[in-house]
Amino acid sequence: MRQPVTVVTGGSRGIGAAICARLAADGHDVVVGYRSDATAAETVAETVRTAGRRCLTVPSDTADETSVDHLFDAAAELGPVTGLVNNAGISGGNGRLADADAEGMRRALEVNVLGYLLCARRAVRDMSRTGGGAIVNISSAAATLGSPGQYVHYAATKAAVDTMTVGLAKEVAADGIRVNCVAPGIIWTEFHADPQRPAKLAGTIPMGRAGQPEEITGAVSWLLSADASYTTGAILRVAGGM
Ligand code: NDP
Repeated sequence: MRQPVTVVTGGSRGIGAAICARLAADGHDVVVGYRSDATAAETVAETVRTAGRRCLTVPSDTADETSVDHLFDAAAELGPVTGLVNNAGISGGNGRLADADAEGMRRALEVNVLGYLLCARRAVRDMSRTGGGAIVNISSAAATLGSPGQYVHYAATKAAVDTMTVGLAKEVAADGIRVNCVAPGIIWTEFHADPQRPAKLAGTIPMGRAGQPEEITGAVSWLLSADASYTTGAILRVAGGM
């Protein structure tokens, strides 16, 4: 058995931070990618190390090709990367499409689509040389709901994440690389422009409440694990019934 070494983009806060903690508890060494908040990334690293696992924090803009290569080059210090969690994402503005600004939409496309593709590309290049691995893309229930009046452009980027999961899973299955997706519903993080959005939308969720970041992590850890050895191309909805 190889020691699991997993890169988590956007691991400094929110869902990504909870995933790092869960993976450490489940035996992974963890590489915490983050964009700007070094203090938050270091706090996550302390949690990982307290669980007895190794951890690196690496500043990296996932929308930038050179920066992504820097992330994976640094990660290799812990040994061959066996897992990638593509998690770093932004909404890129809120409101009706008629009022959206092009720059916010462009940045959402760059981070949520190009960023996931660049990280997945580098991961499959590395994993196909080092004995395979697993990728989990964090999508969103928005991919199928469409987010009218909130951020149609963001929902569209998440539909792209679902599609790249299906295609890449088939493309690299024979290389020993599995590619799956977790699609959260509304989760309590700092992602929301209105911090109370999860509470305000609780009535629209069949389970009657928004989720906690920790409620996403089990699905991610399972998809990275040997228990999911025959699972690829799956989109696992973790959304309280949405
Ligand atoms: P947060 O806003 O709480 O955290 C975002 C994380 O992504 C931070 O660690 C941030 O780093 C990092 N990040 C942002 N842009 C970049 C970038 N260009 N390069 C590298 N890192 C970046 O978001 P959530 O935890 O809520 O969201 C995580 C994922 O889950 C996203 O893909 C989101 O779309 C998805 N999701 C979230 C839902 C929710 O309700 N919260 C629902 C469904 C899906 P830093 O702090 O350093 O800026």
